Amino acid sequence: MRIDLHAHSNASDGTDSPAELVANAVAAGLDVVALTDHDTVAGHPGAAAALAGTGLTLVPGAELSCQVGGISMHLLAYLFDPAEPAFAAERELVRTDRFRRARAIVERCRELGAPISWEQVQRIAGDGSVGRPHIASALVEAGVVASVSDAFTPEWLANEGRADVRKHETDPALAVRLVREAGGVPVFAHPGAVKRGRTVSDQVIADLAAAGLAGLEVDHIDHDEPTRSRLRGLARELGLLVTGSSDYHGSRKTVRLGECTTDPAVYEALVAQATGAKPITA
Ligand code: AMP
Ligand code: FE
Ligand code: ZN
Ligand code: FE
Repeated sequence: MRIDLHAHSNASDGTDSPAELVANAVAAGLDVVALTDHDTVAGHPGAAAALAGTGLTLVPGAELSCQVGGISMHLLAYLFDPAEPAFAAERELVRTDRFRRARAIVERCRELGAPISWEQVQRIAGDGSVGRPHIASALVEAGVVASVSDAFTPEWLANEGRADVRKHETDPALAVRLVREAGGVPVFAHPGAVKRGRTVSDQVIADLAAAGLAGLEVDHIDHDEPTRSRLRGLARELGLLVTGSSDYHGSRKTVRLGECTTDPAVYEALVAQATGAKPITA
């Protein structure tokens, strides 16, 4: 069983449509893929509709933008009820503020001399939950930087960079509670991804574990081997599950589907905790 529990479609900052993501997951030899777009479930129907005849199992999910003590972090949520109103309202709040913030970032980029426009970013983002990677693609189109990852530097879009503007991000303890109350299972995404900015302390992770966190995403491209072994130890100490996933974003990043994977026993344990939805197999 090859299980990848973190992938993005063009419902957020990935480049594959949900149906293309399903086709690419099959081509990559995956048995299970989770669709975890930023702050939205808009890609779920398209992905589910593309499963027929593939044998692939889809885990509907999302990746929530959170912040604690000024440090941004991401919470993966699996198998929640997408219609549960309190959690749906919080996702909507974040998505709405993404628009205000993206316009402000574009303005900052223009002040800093980058010839990009809001219309261009809207064209790139389409209906997707708009974020910095779309603005990064606009900076690439304009010839300001050579690649999306080159836009995530202090000069431009990195956390606390010259053109970074914060968005509304949920307190992670509240997010854990919202996910659980919607019947879902919360897993801390790439908790040691230092190249993205500051990371939270072990104490914050311990507090989230006490609040209902189910697991840590340990095997991730942004974690080096010492970080993985440290996080594995922390998960053991706190009784948390350990997952591994690609965080695939289509052509916007170089990582491939299935580059990191999750142990089948861990996957079974996650599914067993969920009451909001079930994995979908056509
Ligand atoms: P946003 O959700 O708009 O705050 O943008 C965060 C997204 O930007 C993440 O989900 C990643 O896809 C991307 N990102 C963050 N840091 C980096 C980085 N250092 N290199 C490439 N992409 C990044
Ligand atoms: Fe992303
Ligand atoms: Zn993330
Ligand atoms: Fe992600």
